[in-house]
Amino acid sequence: MINTLNSQLLAKYPFIKHFFSTRIGGHSHSPFQWANMSIKSGDPYSLKNRQQLASELDVPLERFVFMDQIHSDNILIASEQDAGKGSTSADDAIKYYDALVTNKPNLMLIVTTADCVPVLIADTRKKVIAAVHAGWRGSAKLITFKAVQKMKDGYNSSPHDIVAVIGPSIGPCCYQVGQDVLEAFKYTFARKADDFFERRKNKLYLDLWKVNKYQLLQAGIPEQNIDHIALCTSCNNNKFYSARRGDKGRQIAGIMLKQNH
Ligand SMILES: [Zn+2]
Repeated sequence: MINTLNSQLLAKYPFIKHFFSTRIGGHSHSPFQWANMSIKSGDPYSLKNRQQLASELDVPLERFVFMDQIHSDNILIASEQDAGKGSTSADDAIKYYDALVTNKPNLMLIVTTADCVPVLIADTRKKVIAAVHAGWRGSAKLITFKAVQKMKDGYNSSPHDIVAVIGPSIGPCCYQVGQDVLEAFKYTFARKADDFFERRKNKLYLDLWKVNKYQLLQAGIPEQNIDHIALCTSCNNNKFYSARRGDKGRQIAGIMLKQNH
């Protein structure tokens, strides 16, 4: 079994399937141990890990939709023709996007991470979902806020019907950044930017969890509709891949609308 985590909040909705994968339970050998989901990492077992996960989720891998993420704020409305993209080869992953939105059933929207924040979002009334990849660059470009905006614009979603989960990612405990990152945030958030950073022993740390929660709140989502799996990928490097720790492996998060619900 490949170990996965769920959000209690999203799990309440029977028409939604979702997961956050961990590194525990797959086939990969060192340095990718164990459940590496990146097929461009050079790991010969990554596809086998994906197939096993798909089988355990009871969703064919041909229904997964992978992006070739670039730390942008580009958001794609995924359609039936995107099913399976990037699932068995990195070559046909959806290029130049970092978030997917859809109201189509049986499309498992995937984000790939190792420290960056996976945000899964669902309008539980209109049945619209989103998967967002938010590292510091995407967060500074407001990708999470814009993904909710895309749901509002494209599907007339009301933020009060939306639930969201901030997944496992590097925490403010470990995410030391340079002055350039603070400058980028000031460009977007002006004086508010300081709220997302901490200085400890003359080092600067960014709280990606806080800035993404802020974007969800700014989009009008009620606080009780926001779940946060507060696990730091760097602190918990035995359970998650961490790019900052030098890992080339990646975990994935996925969300899908089931048919006939
Ligand atoms: Zn940490």
